[in-house]
Amino acid sequence: MTSSNIPTQPFVDGVHQAAAGGAALHLVNPATGQPLGTVQTVTTFQVSAAVESAHRAWEGGWRDLAPGKRADILFNVARVIRENLELLAQIECANIGKPISDARDEIGLGAKVFEYYAGAIGKYFGQTIPVSRGGFDFTLRQSMGVVAAIVPWNFPFPIAAWKSAPALAAGNAVVLKPASLSPLTALRLGELAHAAGLPAGVLQVLPGSGREVGDALVTHPLVRKISFTGSTEIGRRIMELASRDLKRVSLELGGKSPNVVFADADWQRAAETSPMSVFANTGQDCCARSRMYVERSVYDGFVERFVAATRRLDVGDPRLESTQIGPLVSEGQRATVEAFLADARKAGSQVACGGSRLPGPGSFLAPAVLLGVGASDRCWREEIFGPVVAITPFDDEAGMLRDVNASPYGLSGSVWTNDLRRALRVSRAIQSGVLSINCHNSVHVEAPFGGFKQSGLGRDLGMAAMDGFTELKNVYIAD
Ligand code: NAP
Repeated sequence: MTSSNIPTQPFVDGVHQAAAGGAALHLVNPATGQPLGTVQTVTTFQVSAAVESAHRAWEGGWRDLAPGKRADILFNVARVIRENLELLAQIECANIGKPISDARDEIGLGAKVFEYYAGAIGKYFGQTIPVSRGGFDFTLRQSMGVVAAIVPWNFPFPIAAWKSAPALAAGNAVVLKPASLSPLTALRLGELAHAAGLPAGVLQVLPGSGREVGDALVTHPLVRKISFTGSTEIGRRIMELASRDLKRVSLELGGKSPNVVFADADWQRAAETSPMSVFANTGQDCCARSRMYVERSVYDGFVERFVAATRRLDVGDPRLESTQIGPLVSEGQRATVEAFLADARKAGSQVACGGSRLPGPGSFLAPAVLLGVGASDRCWREEIFGPVVAITPFDDEAGMLRDVNASPYGLSGSVWTNDLRRALRVSRAIQSGVLSINCHNSVHVEAPFGGFKQSGLGRDLGMAAMDGFTELKNVYIAD
């Protein structure tokens, strides 16, 4: 990848446009600490112009395009993403330190998301409802207008895709705001989608700070829906601002997901595979299984295997095929995680392995396993968003479930057991939007994804996302 592959300007109305007056984003490669490039940001005036032009593109053609034609364009977007997969993966790797093999998987996932929603267009329709003898009642699923998609830095490309693709499939225009740390693949997505046939203005990509560009989008009167993924704190603020004119809102927020291992499970396999359920993406994953409950009779054996498997993880240069864990996204994020670790040590927790910086440049931190963390300690209760797990033994199912559900979060989690009745009972009892039994897979393009409680509102992915990007209208024709 060369510097000419790094997009530097907002993508508006089908072209990269110079943004006069906006501050610049100075990007740093977190694996090397070296500057990566500079991206221009938009001003609030330019946000307004981009939203108005997206609205015109929606009203002037996109919403009324024949569904088959819309599907053809989105299939084409998927094809063009695949053709550019390697370049996009290299950009993501350099921008946020994502291990290259994960980056390739995530770009491929983005393409798959466009394919899924291209295919969904012809399969998504209203109902006819028997309300009276002679009349005729039916429902329509109608596009909303301009959707603002605000995304985080941990999975920049797939999350941009899983917001944009269903919103576009439903006939909306999208204004995408990438996170300030990771604007590059989103800017490329705008360009590639346009090259694939998406009309100018239908997908605008506006880099800029959340405080300025995000707020301007959330409060713009022509934005009808905000689809947000990020922290619970910002989600709360967006909901407050959106309430002023009752904008539709969907929020995918933080998590503190449990990983529960019963003694009857194949706990050896759980111990071998669970490290990557929390340390993948350097723990910067809303679904990270960061608090582990292990039934006491297998606890010691489990911890021994888990720690050994953690020590074997390949942490280092994200450009290497073999690397499993890259750096944290920034020095600031590493400092945040280290503050959690310092608190844990002060509170008397044991660090069974990891927690120290790797020698050399880059914001690397060896994955840390904490034991003896108290139930009220910060590391047990709060989202750390870094490579840290806490493991605790449990004796009874009911007590464990009470503690699991005491969290304000409810996004994801895993349960390991070979007892089918227990699997059903526990998965019903855990208050979370997504749950995996005997594995750690949380995200499937075809299935709804989202959280209970303070982990969010609404659902991404699956056909549920189409509901979230349409208004439901009922029409009655008298006899
Ligand atoms: P964040 O700080 O909440 O930022 C997310 C996005 O919101 C960024 O684009 C950010 O822009 C923007 N933003 C910030 N302030 C804003 C404001 N006042 N108005 C509108 N937009 C604003 O989150 P993050 O640090 O990027 O990501 C980490 C968080 O995301 C974690 O809590 C994680 O659990 C959550 N997450 C959840 C999911 C899920 O599906 N549930 C998936 C991934 C991540 P700037 O970058 O310019 O600040």
